[in-house]
Amino acid sequence: MDMQFSADQIAFRDEVRAFLDGHLSPRLRLGARMTPTVFAEPDIGREWQQILYQRGWFGYCWPQGYGGTGWTPVQRYIFDKECALAHAPELPALSLKLLGPVLHRFGNEQQKQHYLPRILSGEHYWCQGFSEPSAGSDLANLKTRAVLDGDRWIVNGSKLWTTHAHFADHMFCLVRTNPEVKAQAGVSFLLIDMKQPGIEVRPIRNIAGDHEVNAVFLDNVVVPAGDMVGEEGQGWTIAKFLLENERGGSCHAPVLLAQLAELRREAADASDGEGAPLIGDRSFAAALARVEFEAQALEVTELRILAEIAQGRPPGPQTSLVKLIASNLRQQISSLGLRVFGYAGLQLQQQRPLYGDGAPQPVHSAAAMAAAPSYLNNRAWTIFGGSNEVQRTIIARTVLGL
Ligand SMILES: Cc1cc2nc3c(=O)[nH]c(=O)nc-3n(C[C@H](O)[C@H](O)[C@H](O)COP(=O)(O)OP(=O)(O)OC[C@H]3O[C@@H](n4cnc5c(N)ncnc54)[C@H](O)[C@@H]3O)c2cc1C
Repeated sequence: MDMQFSADQIAFRDEVRAFLDGHLSPRLRLGARMTPTVFAEPDIGREWQQILYQRGWFGYCWPQGYGGTGWTPVQRYIFDKECALAHAPELPALSLKLLGPVLHRFGNEQQKQHYLPRILSGEHYWCQGFSEPSAGSDLANLKTRAVLDGDRWIVNGSKLWTTHAHFADHMFCLVRTNPEVKAQAGVSFLLIDMKQPGIEVRPIRNIAGDHEVNAVFLDNVVVPAGDMVGEEGQGWTIAKFLLENERGGSCHAPVLLAQLAELRREAADASDGEGAPLIGDRSFAAALARVEFEAQALEVTELRILAEIAQGRPPGPQTSLVKLIASNLRQQISSLGLRVFGYAGLQLQQQRPLYGDGAPQPVHSAAAMAAAPSYLNNRAWTIFGGSNEVQRTIIARTVLGL
């Protein structure tokens, strides 16, 4: 595997870098840095989406056609890395990185023509309705029931931990269409219009006070038969494809390395408690270096996966390895963040967002104000998209053959 970028790739990187320099406003950059949750608030996420959409780059991880850029995996990696270095807001990943690839692979022509352009333009904002009260790690246990009534499905049940359901107008959803067969074989994949009677979204506030996830209740919700993706009973196959993208589809290392570079800068300004810079403290410096090495090793693993994808091979179960390591590193970085800010990092403001005109007044610096909410929000990384324990089981079985 060649670790050097070609001249074309360097030219592409410079083009992306120049675009970011010219179009990513200080407001967006600050918003991204001051967002403790996993996803950007729609105000900055959608503004950044619009800028990329106008440039024709929002579909950067899609194949060509229906607005996809058709970029190579290396181009996508370069784009992700430059965005991370420039502090770009997170893009609406549920539609772009999860549903988009599903529709490209499993959608029919009508679905592609209707939904894909609306994802790109931002006309539709999507949430993901997979988990339920007793179906998280054991997703195949899902109970939300869809029954065919003429040319429409009638859906009843509930979904849990549904990120950004309070902003979404559409939900891609796993439902049980056949309770008589093996659990996995009775699952189907529906596209649900959230703006209809029978849908109730109840907020769940997390340990940091952020409202990112919800419980969603579906009471006789109507879905046209044409809004089933794939065949009836194909939902499990589609979900596995989607989850592989969720676990390994995006590049984590560039974001982690950018966060670490920032932490290193902040540690140079912070005191070790005795008047010297914290970065000179041997135990802190060793802890930081250890995480940096691991993030660099993760980057190599991600590049290896990209090389596989470039050869036409699917990302496969090693995406579980990436998800596991990246989640642990996120948590370690935010723990180091708390150590950098010390007392000033313990403030837990209740107002949101932490940027803009209505932002709370920080006790110390803005960065210190984000430290504790980030630390608390990052606890979720080892749970969503499949918990650490579940990833370890997948790695043991399918990568190590145990
Ligand atoms: C911030 C956040 C956002 C989320 N967003 C969404 C979303 O948008 N859409 C969506 O559908 N879901 C979402 N989820 C749900 C997420 O996918 C589930 O929380 C996750 O799959 C775990 O399921 P659970 O919460 O039911 O926990 P459980 O499955 O009940 O697990 C509880 C504990 O038991 C362990 N455990 C369970 N089974 C095993 C096993 N077989 N072997 C070893 N240990 C096991 C788990 O690792 C965990 O520690 C989100 C979750 C969070 C925290």
